[in-house]
Amino acid sequence: PRSDALVFFGATGDLAYKKIFPALLAMTRDGQLELPIIGVAHSDWNLRQFRQRARNSVMQAAKDSGEKFDKAAFDRLSARLQYVDGDYKDPATFARLKQALGNAKRPLHYLAIPPSLFGTVVQGLEQAGCAEHARVVVEKPFGHDLASARQLNQTLRSVFPDDAIFRIDHFLGKEAIMNILYFRFANSFLEPIWNRNNVASVEVTLSEKFGVEGRGSFYDGAGCLRDVIQNHLLQIVALLAMEPPAYQGFGAVHAEKAKVFQAMRPLQPDDLVRGQYRGYRSEPGVAKGSDVETFCALRLFIDSWRWGGVPWYLRSGKCLPETVAEIVVELKPPPQKLFDDAAQKAGRANYLRFRLSPNTAVALAARVKRAGKEFVGDQRELTLVEEQTGQESPYQRLLGDAMAGDGALFTREEAVEAAWVVVEPVLRNHHPAIPYRRGSWGPTQAAALIAADGGWHNPVVEEGRP
Ligand code: NAP
Repeated sequence: PRSDALVFFGATGDLAYKKIFPALLAMTRDGQLELPIIGVAHSDWNLRQFRQRARNSVMQAAKDSGEKFDKAAFDRLSARLQYVDGDYKDPATFARLKQALGNAKRPLHYLAIPPSLFGTVVQGLEQAGCAEHARVVVEKPFGHDLASARQLNQTLRSVFPDDAIFRIDHFLGKEAIMNILYFRFANSFLEPIWNRNNVASVEVTLSEKFGVEGRGSFYDGAGCLRDVIQNHLLQIVALLAMEPPAYQGFGAVHAEKAKVFQAMRPLQPDDLVRGQYRGYRSEPGVAKGSDVETFCALRLFIDSWRWGGVPWYLRSGKCLPETVAEIVVELKPPPQKLFDDAAQKAGRANYLRFRLSPNTAVALAARVKRAGKEFVGDQRELTLVEEQTGQESPYQRLLGDAMAGDGALFTREEAVEAAWVVVEPVLRNHHPAIPYRRGSWGPTQAAALIAADGGWHNPVVEEGRP
């Protein structure tokens, strides 16, 4: 059964402002949110101020996306908002929440709050009798290392059953990510080549042009490996590498993804190049002598029958030349080089490219002969551009799924812990972060990591090129 109330912890925070109110507005517009929405925080606000905050958020979002502010939908959303003010550490806050919930029987508690408060809130909910038949949605980070991830899972599990816990990795709600799964298993031509016999290497790049943008103190406690690699990038790898699920239904997808995490070889210091953009240490909130990485490139192996020996290269960072997410699956060259074609001799022939953002596309690169007497050619791309319109935002999609009790696009406990096992050995034991120039693709040492496999494909973002 669907949840019958939405309780929103952290409703006055940054994430709420940037992402959640706009998603709630879209859900209201689509008729998915016919229920009370109760914000809980300790800003010392009243309901009017809370509604004003929601209004500012959705107006800002409309402005940023060039859309018209949907006043009619906002008025309906606004009418459903309630606000409970109080400290999460104070049981009286939960007593007031219980009262606000009225006769709701199956609330969904959404925790957009600092992770240090997860335990406090979950226990507060239980003690006030707000957890029974309820669902809980938690935001990353799911722990800081393996031990804290286990601790968090225990805390959640002490109050909620497994199928009532929804861990948001908003990446998994993106159309382009869902398409990886679809593209792999809705086509037959891929399966014969999707293995160690034909795939030379796989690269995943998730880059941002900007720096820490005022979130220095948060970032300095995390770094690139914890912030995006342990979750978003390893999730992408699991979708690319998993076996076909043996039955329909997403329980099977979770099971196959978990096997990929378990087959990943835990990282060692030499598998990584850590970098830090110049000027990071003078960002507000960043420690003067900080060694936290704002860039990380790494080589990963999956010790499975399908992927044995194939290197997976992952790279992410801030202050890089583009804001883009892209996957390149490089296929092995033909066994013989028949043509006296310098470019062909140099190696690259075929690859599959998945552009995940800012636009979405799948491209297959092949060599084609140039007109003329010589047998020389060029590498060209066949491109399938994905539909950009009519997409739900990841938060709209994921909150809607959680309210319906559908856990398919959420991260499971076992996967979270298995992914921490992969990165755990290098969380503290690693080479120092190497400074790099803003606007470069990271330290030059990152190129050496992949040199034997032909170097990085640097994604280009151009008008009109998917
Ligand atoms: P934030 O701006 O610091 O907001 C924290 C929220 O929690 C505020 O609403 C704050 O209320 C409330 N809060 C904190 N301590 C409280 C207490 N003791 N009692 C009552 N309310 C309390 O944090 P955020 O950036 O929105 O992030 C929230 C969560 O989302 C975190 O787990 C973060 O890691 C995750 N996340 C954030 C982003 C992002 O882009 N910001 C992205 C991904 C994940 P008051 O303001 O009223 O004090």
